[in-house]
Amino acid sequence: MDNISKSFSKNKFNKNKGIENKFNKNKFNEDLFSNIYNTIVDYNLIEENDLIAIALSGGKDSVLTLHALNSLQIDKNFIDFDIVAISVDEGIDHYRQHGLDAAIENTNELGVELIQTSFKDSFNYKLDDIHSYFKSGCIPCGIFRRNILNKTAYEIGADKIATGHNLDDEIQSFLMSFSRGDTFKFSKFGPKLNRIHPKLVPRIKPLWNVKEKDVGMWAIANNINIHFDECPYSSESLRSKIKGFLNKEEVNNPGLKENIMESFKKSFNIETKIANLNECKLCGEPCSADVCKTCETIKIIENSK
Ligand code: SF4
Ligand SMILES: [Zn+2]
Repeated sequence: MDNISKSFSKNKFNKNKGIENKFNKNKFNEDLFSNIYNTIVDYNLIEENDLIAIALSGGKDSVLTLHALNSLQIDKNFIDFDIVAISVDEGIDHYRQHGLDAAIENTNELGVELIQTSFKDSFNYKLDDIHSYFKSGCIPCGIFRRNILNKTAYEIGADKIATGHNLDDEIQSFLMSFSRGDTFKFSKFGPKLNRIHPKLVPRIKPLWNVKEKDVGMWAIANNINIHFDECPYSSESLRSKIKGFLNKEEVNNPGLKENIMESFKKSFNIETKIANLNECKLCGEPCSADVCKTCETIKIIENSK
């Protein structure tokens, strides 16, 4: 943990009273990393000799995941495992490069290997060129990114993919599925998704119990190089609307997000239908239908040109 707690010694001020409240950075870092550690141990996210591929966008969540897993990886008291990072350049001008720069800088600083991939290399499209064919740019973006991450992780023999999903992301996803009546997706929630097909690399979410605001605070307090920019397509998504709603309501009803998370955790006991995965008849990737979402998306793009 010490390698991430070097610089911040500013104090927080209580504006109402004019009293200086010391922000104890070391205590904050310790609590945050304990939270992540407990999720990893309680849910058995990392096993002996695992190779964990970290999905690294360069945003605050993925960069915290990188630092947290790196600190465990070099901790002699923890089990042996290895990490590698994968970045995906979606092709979003004036946005993505900042994240990629942060991914490069953080992996260099920690000595972690970074594998750089892109939509352009894999599919020959930039998101900027195809987003308008869809209701939201996030639709092809999520499908292509999942495809690239899974394929890359599978090719290098990774045992798991670690994503930066935090508590806020998880309840947003939960409410999105809820509002769509898509209870089947509930099986994709939780800090660890099991391997349901030999070619589908399981996912883990070490930040599952960490609030988004704490991730931001960690990055600022420790002078971590991340990109804070908002994706130009994010406002088109249902997620963004639900996020705005939750943030607004949390101000009026503090604790609302944690209450939703608690209700959500209870729902894990509901038996979820395990998907019977096939392989896509066009590309061979695992999928629940005859043709995978990636191939369907490519077809939409080709028909829209
Ligand atoms: S906000 Fe949407 S379009 Fe932008 S990077 Fe995220 S998923 Fe892709
Ligand atoms: Zn396919």
